[in-house]
Amino acid sequence: MTRKIAIYGKGGIGKSTTTQNTAAALAYFHDKNVFIHGCDPKADSTRLILGGLPQATVMDTLRIEGAERVTVDKVVKTGFKDIRCVESGGPEPGVGCAGRGVITAIDLMEENEAYSEDLDFLFFDVLGDVVCGGFAMPIRDGKAQEVYIVASGEMMAIYAANNICKGLAKYARQSGVRLGGIICNSRNVDGEKEFLAEFTKAIGTRMIHFVPRDNIVQKAEFNKQTVTEFQPEANQAQEYRELGRKIIENEDFVIPKPLAMDELEAMVVKYGLMD
Ligand code: ADP
Ligand code: MG
Repeated sequence: MTRKIAIYGKGGIGKSTTTQNTAAALAYFHDKNVFIHGCDPKADSTRLILGGLPQATVMDTLRIEGAERVTVDKVVKTGFKDIRCVESGGPEPGVGCAGRGVITAIDLMEENEAYSEDLDFLFFDVLGDVVCGGFAMPIRDGKAQEVYIVASGEMMAIYAANNICKGLAKYARQSGVRLGGIICNSRNVDGEKEFLAEFTKAIGTRMIHFVPRDNIVQKAEFNKQTVTEFQPEANQAQEYRELGRKIIENEDFVIPKPLAMDELEAMVVKYGLMD
């Protein structure tokens, strides 16, 4: 059985970095078969796995060559540790709804049986602070059963996480999707761990792992690699290994209870995150 996981979180919080580094650790340390489907119109969800290899996105291929050319051979590329990668891409800037591209791309991958049965993990790396339109698709239509939200101790990251939980709570009953936890991708904010511990408890979930901020992530990125490929013995690679292990062993799946705005604001004030 393939575990289908959607990664959400505020833009720039580290979704693509965390997804790829965790995928690499799952493949390298835990011997898992992994597929990453990038659902951000930026199409930068898979470059660390593919070593920067240029990749034809599903939407570009569809637009330029037509639907019959959107085959697995054409749009799915294999990278580090045989991790398979596809990028949805987006519409031409300013034209059409980017969310629709996500729906189209996932449907096409399913029709082509790109998500093969031998996969242990399928990750959707989804853009979006707000779970609206097409970006809700992976959780609305049961494309993913599990969600992890990437957040930090910064106020806007928590607002986004709370909003995503609202979307999740709305679709959870019809689609069966559940929240598996919040991944803290640290910004070295004062009291970050305590704040996230309290926030996650309040919404009925937990901080599944605290990923430290470490320059080696950027060094590896400069080499178009994940930390695990760049330096598997590094501390940071062990952090992603540990996150991978916790995801493998996770049995704690919930429908979150998002906070009302005044509750969230009270918590933000308590921790002094008023920047
Ligand atoms: P998102 O996909 O959420 O928009 P990215 O994954 O592209 O965000 O992350 C933005 C930048 O943050 C990346 O270029 C990466 O270098 C940096 N980054 C993310 N996580 C870490 C970390 N744990 N330590 C250091 N830098 C990080
Ligand atoms: Mg991204």
